[in-house]
Amino acid sequence: METHEEAESAQTSPALSNAEIADRLAGLAQLLSTQKENPYKVKAYHRAAARIRLLSDSLDELVREDADLTQFPGIGEAIASAIREIVLTGKLRKLDTLRGQAAPEIASLADYPRLDPKRTLRAYKKLGISSIESLREKLESGEIESALGLRMAQHVRQGLSEAHAMLLYRADDLRDAIEEFLLTKCAVKRVQVVGASRRRVEVIEEIAFVIETDDFPGVVRRMQRYGGRTALLESSADGAVFGLASGITLRLRLCSARAWGLCLVMETGSEAHLKKLEAVTERLTSLSGKTALTTETAFYRRLGLAYIEPELREGNDEVERAGTGSLPKLVTEADIRGELHAHSTSSDGVHSIEQMAAAARQRGYEYIGISDHSQSLKIASGVSVEDLWHQIKYIDKLNGKNDGIRILKSSEVDILADGSLDYPDDLLRELDYTVCSIHSRFGLNREQQTERLLRAMDNRYFNILGHATGRLLLKRPGYEIDIDRVVEHARRNGCFFEINSSPDRLDLSADNARRAAAAGVLIAVNTDSHSMGELQLVRYGLDQARRAGLAKFAVLNCRPWQKLQALLKR
Ligand SMILES: [Zn+2]
Ligand SMILES: [Zn+2]
Repeated sequence: METHEEAESAQTSPALSNAEIADRLAGLAQLLSTQKENPYKVKAYHRAAARIRLLSDSLDELVREDADLTQFPGIGEAIASAIREIVLTGKLRKLDTLRGQAAPEIASLADYPRLDPKRTLRAYKKLGISSIESLREKLESGEIESALGLRMAQHVRQGLSEAHAMLLYRADDLRDAIEEFLLTKCAVKRVQVVGASRRRVEVIEEIAFVIETDDFPGVVRRMQRYGGRTALLESSADGAVFGLASGITLRLRLCSARAWGLCLVMETGSEAHLKKLEAVTERLTSLSGKTALTTETAFYRRLGLAYIEPELREGNDEVERAGTGSLPKLVTEADIRGELHAHSTSSDGVHSIEQMAAAARQRGYEYIGISDHSQSLKIASGVSVEDLWHQIKYIDKLNGKNDGIRILKSSEVDILADGSLDYPDDLLRELDYTVCSIHSRFGLNREQQTERLLRAMDNRYFNILGHATGRLLLKRPGYEIDIDRVVEHARRNGCFFEINSSPDRLDLSADNARRAAAAGVLIAVNTDSHSMGELQLVRYGLDQARRAGLAKFAVLNCRPWQKLQALLKR
């Protein structure tokens, strides 16, 4: 595949790819963290490595051109000089020194940036081992799980495997960078992201684009220079697949202007969606020959269907509903009237109640609920009973000033192991509403966890169930619950769910949100903001709400406070 010219230039200058540079910075971070190094510095190296994997520009070239590397987010002076050293000398002295000084079991951790060194060394000690090979064996034999628990086993499994997936919000950065590269460096005429990223699936394994160009082989060639060097895995006359530095794959698909709409449909829909379309028509590709299908709307119209939003193209009931004209009008950001889950400096938030309120007003919201952690959650500075009483009076005073936004008195109340709530009823009664969440005892089994939630919902001051399954995407699965029983109990008790918009939670999942909505249970799209800037994460929650097919009437915080207030009184 490589052209003569590229093969030659590769021989004369052994350019490093961004991935190789990132590996060394991540390795350094690993070794630093086994020392008594400042954790912020360790984090900075890890973060820089992750950012570098997304960059389209070749750092190697930039260094040789003497460009200012601190122009990129996450790269400060110290890291820029480390990158220069790596590119110009092929080495990083600090990494080599640390490697030389470290015992072999520690030195080898530098090659596994996703393994937490401290936890791994603890596992080594407990199991009496000292190498990655033995760690892998103990994982496979199940010894890690039995001796150190499920979470440690999960961590080790993840740390030993290569990353093949990334969170949607990270993939969005990558999408933007690649799109710009295609338009400015590859001279494509038109580009559109398709696939899972366009459907807003929460975890992305492949990022895909449809492109229009007169020189597809040229685009493929140039894409191999993305981030310094990017591996071409497969290619044909109208398609190519690359392995990106971040561990996921990139797929390009050539398409003509004439068949653009058809192509977008074929490349965006899930397999199940395409199968349902095929049930309506003959083979989809045979449609292209007859007349031009330049837009997706034209395509769906040809099949006698209404336009289907990308987020719905999963093969649920969207094709049937597009045929009968009964597709939902999906909720949008403009429909959101307020925020119902936000933290302040009273617990583990970064900004004060007033600052959070100002940021919400800035967004045009009518209200913001301050739901700091409750007393038992010590690691997140849970608010004592006494302090919450004070906070209630304080918020009353702030609302008295009538500052253009209503601050709601709330709390993210821990659901204790037995299903009781973490504050006495006489205090809960004074709040406008509660978000109730599980933050402990994840190890209970499905039956116990479900009972715990049902008992909590029996409390008349329970309003919204926070992050229902506790999942952290790409980190840990949620605890198991019988979602149908929980939904039914919520319906009977007048309780609500949230879609937590934090990009690593997105909990409820779209599937679970669909079930709740089908039972008529309203869902709040909350951000769980711990700072003012995080209020904007609501769009990731909305992505999932749209995937669940929610219209604005199905979303709790699309209502004005008057209507909401009535719903929150049980
Ligand atoms: Zn929480
Ligand atoms: Zn929270």
